[in-house]
Amino acid sequence: MIKARKCVREMKEYHSPLSGAAIDLRLDMNESTTGCSPRVLAKIHSLDAKLLALYPRREPAEKLAAAFVGVKPEELMLTNGADEGIDVLCRAYLDPEDELIIIVPAFAMYEVFAQITGARTVRIPCGPNFSFPFDKVLQAITPRTRMIVITNPNNPTGLAVKRSEILQVIAAAPDAAVLLDEAYFDFYGETLMDQIGGIPNLFVARTFSKAYGLAGIRLGVLAGAADQMAVLRRIAPPFNVNAFAIECLKEALDDRQFVADYVKQVRASRDWLLKKLEQMGFECWPSHTNFLLVNFGELREAILNGMRARRIGLRNRPDCEGCVRISIGTKQEMERVVSALGEIMTETTAAQEIAK
Ligand code: PMP
Repeated sequence: MIKARKCVREMKEYHSPLSGAAIDLRLDMNESTTGCSPRVLAKIHSLDAKLLALYPRREPAEKLAAAFVGVKPEELMLTNGADEGIDVLCRAYLDPEDELIIIVPAFAMYEVFAQITGARTVRIPCGPNFSFPFDKVLQAITPRTRMIVITNPNNPTGLAVKRSEILQVIAAAPDAAVLLDEAYFDFYGETLMDQIGGIPNLFVARTFSKAYGLAGIRLGVLAGAADQMAVLRRIAPPFNVNAFAIECLKEALDDRQFVADYVKQVRASRDWLLKKLEQMGFECWPSHTNFLLVNFGELREAILNGMRARRIGLRNRPDCEGCVRISIGTKQEMERVVSALGEIMTETTAAQEIAK
């Protein structure tokens, strides 16, 4: 029988928690619940058969994306979602037995892509209240460290990392590729994209899956020093980004008002939900993203099940004690969550009374 490589055989299966048909409010993947810009949709409808017959050319769209984020075209590559950017970096910089440093709790795919290379993942736990463990990250850097990932703001906590600390980590590991994952940049506003071209070991990843409402299109950006990006272009397949994504890009970038309005809506419903949850006595973390991490403590299972029974999908975070991650939707959708939560709490209290 043929055998996959040892590191692949040892990998755990990763299933994204794609909600089943029984869920009609998906708040478990940090997707937009309102969808993409109507201009993007109109563009997709306008595509003709001839265009779809051709292999998609990435370069013109890369020029647009580079101008938009303020880097040179040779410093940027479009990717099949930010996921592909992470994968390409791992394959480019990690040899078996090399070390990748991540800060946990973290987005799951860093570890998955690193494992495929046979590298070792060094997990540095967040500090108190999920703070960025700056000193511990510095201490963890060894000659074997070939990659470090910092997610800013972080998923699943929603917390931001100080620019000065990120810069110090990058400077402390000149032989490591440092990936700054800015998937939630649009909700936060601070970036290190301005350092691309100046810092040779920095990479910045962005995605159109969140604020642009285009997760289904699979479009991301990876930026880095031009000489390194030339290496990465050897690895990424030439047609990694599909024609829909390429054709949509201009419309998505041009409709700035759409993204600004969506971000405003998310911030307002996020702050409203946070207040409600805190009034109900649940601990939350101040998020700079389109999701909230909430500590439901011992009620976690009952709440996840109760929500599922009401067709609402939330994300369990077993890596954060008692916590659940809730993607932010419209105000009405958040009202539905709060009212469901009220019902579940009443049911659970009643059940506890009966059991006494
Ligand atoms: N990085 C982070 C921190 C994320 O949360 C996600 C998606 N949840 C991604 C990357 C991947 O995004 P994409 O859909 O662009 O692959």
